[in-house]
Amino acid sequence: MPPSPARACKILATLGPASDSRKGIADMIAAGADAFRVNMSHGDQSAHAAVIARVREEAAAQNRHVAILCDLQGPKLRLGKLPGDGVTVKPLQRLRLSLGEHADAGALCAPHPELFAALEEGARLSFDDGMVMARVAQAGKNFAELEFLNGGTLTANKGINVPGRELPLSALTEKDRADLSFALAQGADYVALSFVQRPDDVREAQALLDGRARLVAKIEKPAALAHLEEIAALADAVMVARGDLGVELDLEQVPVMQRRIIRVCRRAGRPVIVATQMLQSMITAQSPTRAEASDIATAVYLGADAVMLSAETAVGRHPLTSVAIMKRIIAAVEADPEYRRHLPPLDDPDRGADAGALAYAARMAAEAQGARVMLAFTQSGASALAIARERPEARIIAVSPSDASARRLALVWGVEPQARPGAESFDAAIAQARAVLQDIGERRRALMIAGLPFGSEGRTNVLHILD
Ligand code: PGA
Ligand code: MN
Repeated sequence: MPPSPARACKILATLGPASDSRKGIADMIAAGADAFRVNMSHGDQSAHAAVIARVREEAAAQNRHVAILCDLQGPKLRLGKLPGDGVTVKPLQRLRLSLGEHADAGALCAPHPELFAALEEGARLSFDDGMVMARVAQAGKNFAELEFLNGGTLTANKGINVPGRELPLSALTEKDRADLSFALAQGADYVALSFVQRPDDVREAQALLDGRARLVAKIEKPAALAHLEEIAALADAVMVARGDLGVELDLEQVPVMQRRIIRVCRRAGRPVIVATQMLQSMITAQSPTRAEASDIATAVYLGADAVMLSAETAVGRHPLTSVAIMKRIIAAVEADPEYRRHLPPLDDPDRGADAGALAYAARMAAEAQGARVMLAFTQSGASALAIARERPEARIIAVSPSDASARRLALVWGVEPQARPGAESFDAAIAQARAVLQDIGERRRALMIAGLPFGSEGRTNVLHILD
């Protein structure tokens, strides 16, 4: 097998009616999708179960480790049912928003007591991802008089945001709890928690997951930004959820926060996904705008672990081309001789933990000796994550006896996961390493890190040079 130049930044594609057929999934895997998002905000569990089964089968058929991320809807505030085709508002028009599932003629409703408890005079409300904005002119216990700041038409179930306010909502609704159990029963590799506001939200979800799936904290509320370091430390991975974040914050803050979130995650060694509108125009168009191409490139230059496609692959007209174009853009950036120089260095990294210290030593040794491959023998994936955090020039091959670990690592920068039976001894691991190197046609010096004794989790204590 010729050495396939590894692509470091990974592609996470959202599945939906445009792509979740057997062929759609198979083609996207072949085109370069490393992971799929199943969006629990849409569809029902039996349909999701069928899609997940298809992903597993098609990944196996192509001999690929593909991660599945089940994205929980979270406590998204929505309008209730509105009369007729909705309510059209004009600038400065006043309208009452009241608590309930069904609105009277000429009024709006929302079934969330927490919303009304948090509203006060002067608060801003955003509807439909910022398409319509209003100001609270008067706030009551079960209603709010709104003054609209612009015009537009509001229809049933459209999203509501209260920019800048921390609402007393749990990050897990009843539906989310049921969907989380479902995701675990389906063997999802990652579960994403939407609208995280507090570190306790992450703790609560981690307790429910109990190590059976990895947790992705979606950063889409300003409140979460105030606790970013703690949330990143508690989560297993983080998503820059630019769609809702860009409604909750002024949109010009999105690129600023994107950089900040990536930096914090890099330091904490947490995989970070940049999401939403990356190839938005390709929902209909055959090729993206140049600005979109540049946006993806920016995320790659910043060192994101993965970039995500949302509506482009879920409901767009060109799901496969979207994956292919994303892959081309990533490849072009990574082929740029200046790419490494642009990658922001790990500022103030804590390499005190064993895995961090050894990964750092491994990168230094690889650079000093010109090694082109680093192997991580890993049970939980932690050793591979530690190496990936160093963003080495060498290829990173993670060898794990756990299929689940191999699949999870599919979402991590630079890591090429391989599942192989667990080595019983250090000599057996070295023999496996030699077999891996032979498979990829690498004859030069390589490095491996591992944890002894084999089979124990959370230990990285050996750095070995293979020549
Ligand atoms: P969503 O999350 O697509 O589930 O809303 C991503 C985002 O808000 O950017
Ligand atoms: Mn969102």
